[in-house]
Amino acid sequence: MRVLIVGAGIAGLSFSAHLQKFGIRPKIIEKAKSFEHIGYVLGLWSKGFDTLAEFGVREKVEKLGYESSVFNIRNKEGKITKKLHFDHLIKKYGPVILLHRADFHELLQSLNKNVPIAFGISVEAIKQSESTVLVTFSNGEKEEFDVVVGADGIHSIVRNLVFGTSFLHYAGIHGWTYMVSPRFSFPKNASEIWAGGRFFGVYPDQSDKLCTIFAKKMDAHAYRYNNHADYLKKEFSDFGWIVPDVLSTMTDESTIYHSTWDEVTLDDWYKGRVVLTGDAAHSSVPATGMGGCMALEDARVLAEELAANETAIALKNYAEKRKDHVDMVQKQSEFIDFLINIESSFGMKLRDFLLRFIPSALIVRDFEYLLSG
Ligand SMILES: Cc1cc2nc3c(=O)[nH]c(=O)nc-3n(C[C@H](O)[C@H](O)[C@H](O)COP(=O)(O)OP(=O)(O)OC[C@H]3O[C@@H](n4cnc5c(N)ncnc54)[C@H](O)[C@@H]3O)c2cc1C
Repeated sequence: MRVLIVGAGIAGLSFSAHLQKFGIRPKIIEKAKSFEHIGYVLGLWSKGFDTLAEFGVREKVEKLGYESSVFNIRNKEGKITKKLHFDHLIKKYGPVILLHRADFHELLQSLNKNVPIAFGISVEAIKQSESTVLVTFSNGEKEEFDVVVGADGIHSIVRNLVFGTSFLHYAGIHGWTYMVSPRFSFPKNASEIWAGGRFFGVYPDQSDKLCTIFAKKMDAHAYRYNNHADYLKKEFSDFGWIVPDVLSTMTDESTIYHSTWDEVTLDDWYKGRVVLTGDAAHSSVPATGMGGCMALEDARVLAEELAANETAIALKNYAEKRKDHVDMVQKQSEFIDFLINIESSFGMKLRDFLLRFIPSALIVRDFEYLLSG
């Protein structure tokens, strides 16, 4: 079977690893000239990385990452308003590991030593007939495939070319990730400040750097700053806790990664012999921290289906097996995102009051719902 994977991210590389189990050696193209090691810390649930258990990934992830069982929600001053304990979930579903995206990506690359990645290549055109897909690459070359898999992330070119351009929606948030080498003592647990449309999160991993995320609710085109550090220092100047220390270390613009936070929703993930997976099919706002897991789960199901069935049936089964669960994760992410970004002072007070009195176990139960599916 001739399979083209467009995009060598979490979805593409994990899918390729599974395909090789079945003796299928795909072609992988990647738009980037090399893998940039800028990024953030991923909270990876066992449900995700256990899809790669047969490659010994669990042991490696546990060694590389930082196990987290407590998650703190704080107010603007940094006072903890809710401590969420995940021990019960961890006992039942395995650990949540915080690890740097680049480390996980390297691990996925190590599972694909036999499949060369063609870097610096994108797709220009896709034309399909009943029996094949003809792809024109950005270097002018053309090649035929039996299946084309769009694993090219939130701004998927495969989605745009084959499905249309109307499936990407701005979620109302601008986000900035920043890795800091702290001059202050490290917080031991993941913590987030939820403060009226403004957000600050810290996610410790095993390295000597601390991953921080700033986010702000605003209109899509309202952000016109060239200098992110200046903007963040101004916008978050009234935050307490470790935020002033973090802001004071921002001197190098190239270490701050800015993007809008968007969602992808489309009913059909495949058309003929072209199929979407991971963020290309269903990117969510990162509130539940499950996008990576969803990509990993997609990858296993899609590979198993393609190995077992004729293409049309395989793609139909893949979408049927994955869609309901992914929809649920997207909805839950939207709900948490709504809670984080409540702006009115009454709404915030009510949220914080309810959070204080609702037992942690009850809130965490929502995640059980997502993990058990
Ligand atoms: C701030 C933030 C925090 C997050 N935190 C978490 C978390 O804690 N836990 C979690 O599980 N998830 C988290 N996520 C989500 C997670 O990062 C994504 O869901 C995951 O990376 C999706 O993987 P993917 O392979 O589908 O897409 P990507 O990782 O985006 O990979 C797509 C790949 O395709 C390549 N590509 C793009 N266009 C083309 C093209 N035209 N041709 C060829 N190649 C192309 C890209 O260069 C890239 O290598 C977070 C996301 C954000 C933004």
